[in-house]
Amino acid sequence: MADVNRGRLAPTPTGLLHVGHARTFAIAAERAGGAGLVMRIEDLDRGRCREEFVEAAFDDLRWLGIEWTEGPDLGGPHAPYRQSQRTDWYLEVWRRLEQAAAIYPSPHSRRDVEAAATAPHSAEPIFPTALRPASGLGAGRERAADPGGVAWRFLVPDGRVIEFEDGIRGTVRRTAGIDFGDFVIWRRDDLAAYELAVVADDQAMQIAEVVRGEDLLTSTARQILLYEALGWKPPNWAHTPLVCDAAGERLAKRTAGLAIRDLRAAGRSPAELLTGPT
Ligand code: GLU
Repeated sequence: MADVNRGRLAPTPTGLLHVGHARTFAIAAERAGGAGLVMRIEDLDRGRCREEFVEAAFDDLRWLGIEWTEGPDLGGPHAPYRQSQRTDWYLEVWRRLEQAAAIYPSPHSRRDVEAAATAPHSAEPIFPTALRPASGLGAGRERAADPGGVAWRFLVPDGRVIEFEDGIRGTVRRTAGIDFGDFVIWRRDDLAAYELAVVADDQAMQIAEVVRGEDLLTSTARQILLYEALGWKPPNWAHTPLVCDAAGERLAKRTAGLAIRDLRAAGRSPAELLTGPT
């Protein structure tokens, strides 16, 4: 049996880590306990990712006392640990979803979606069902051999309530078609989308508990649908509270002054960063 608490750290190297990342990663390390902790670099979007941020993340995390047991710098049985090097596996997962008739090609641009979305009640407009293909969603459609330069979406079961137990927050519910709509699993620039890559990797790397920020709660509901469609057992989940700055704004990677790098330079200690007010 896989380690019950085996976890992962999954930074996206588009900027310096801030206090919010530090706290989430510290909780992930603590919850993993002595079980394995995977370092996975989520650098799918090569244009936005930079190697210097990978190095900075490693250095900041080690300064905080957070250690991982497998990763691009340490190797391990699930290498490669960079998403940019795992395309073959993502294509295989795309193929399985296509075989299962769970996804469909969707040529609509973000602009089409925004224009057609009615009364968006969340930050992200819900993909309108009117933009689903009129026919060929199910088993009748001829299966494609590759994504073919178009975006692909997962067909969500409208009205279905997805409920999961969160190790920090307790029971969480999201409703497909209301909280989120058909979501992109393959991008038209021929990259796996976040939801597919994360599920594919957490499964392949035998992650037992996914620990991440609570901004991803709705993504977790989407990912549970992907696990189901693929016939895989989902991991356990724990979503950490988001850290806000003094003005109550969520920390973004660009928030000046709250990068771990800057706080280190200002003489703050790891313990202060992990527990004190921001
Ligand atoms: N790479 C994502 C991020 O930095 C985290 C993804 C996840 O934990 O599932 O926001």
